[in-house]
Amino acid sequence: MKKIIIIIIFAVILLGAAVFYNEFSHKQNNSGMNSGNNSPQNTSSQNAPTPNSSSSQNQNAQNNSSQNGFVPPLPDAAARVTKKPFGIYVTPQNSPVQPERFTGYHTGADFETFPNEQNATVAVHAVCNGTFRLKEYASGYGGVAVEQCTLNGSPITVIYGHLNAATITPNVGDKISAGQAIGDLGKGYSVQTDGERKHLHLGFHKGAAINILGYVQNKADLAQWIDPCLYNVCK
Ligand SMILES: [Zn+2]
Repeated sequence: MKKIIIIIIFAVILLGAAVFYNEFSHKQNNSGMNSGNNSPQNTSSQNAPTPNSSSSQNQNAQNNSSQNGFVPPLPDAAARVTKKPFGIYVTPQNSPVQPERFTGYHTGADFETFPNEQNATVAVHAVCNGTFRLKEYASGYGGVAVEQCTLNGSPITVIYGHLNAATITPNVGDKISAGQAIGDLGKGYSVQTDGERKHLHLGFHKGAAINILGYVQNKADLAQWIDPCLYNVCK
């Protein structure tokens, strides 16, 4: 009899211990699950992409500013690209500029001048840091200047067309800073612009090779050119 009582007491103690253990470990599991679903943890795991994405935004901004560091060539640039944007196909019949002597896809963006600028000196500023590559008098442009810059890690040449050639100050090989004045727009309908209205033709050509074509005849050839307005210069 005594043995049976002792066994029962022992069994009760064991049972109690088992219940206690079960309860205790259950709580531990719960707390483990809680910590898995924990909102702080979720927040921190949701936060993890946020710093990443903001740092990649920062990186984009840095890319943009190094890619850019690009600045408009003229003040109030946003109000100027009104007639011939990049890629427009013009003919003497359909051109927004009359009279028109060109036919083809426009390889650059044209920056118009305002009425009060027609008889004023209008300085053109380099749109990027780079190296001065060319100045000459060319048919269709009058004075033209070419600067080599880096865009997205690759070389491009920047064509500044319709300058007064006599005012182009840098020499070939000079280092150029974004915003630096490089010359004045040629007088409208004069030899300085080869007969064109007073405006700036700005072209971005891919690569380091110099190509000052203002128009290409095949749309596919536009792929060798970049719309300058994608890079901060028309703002
Ligand atoms: Zn043009």
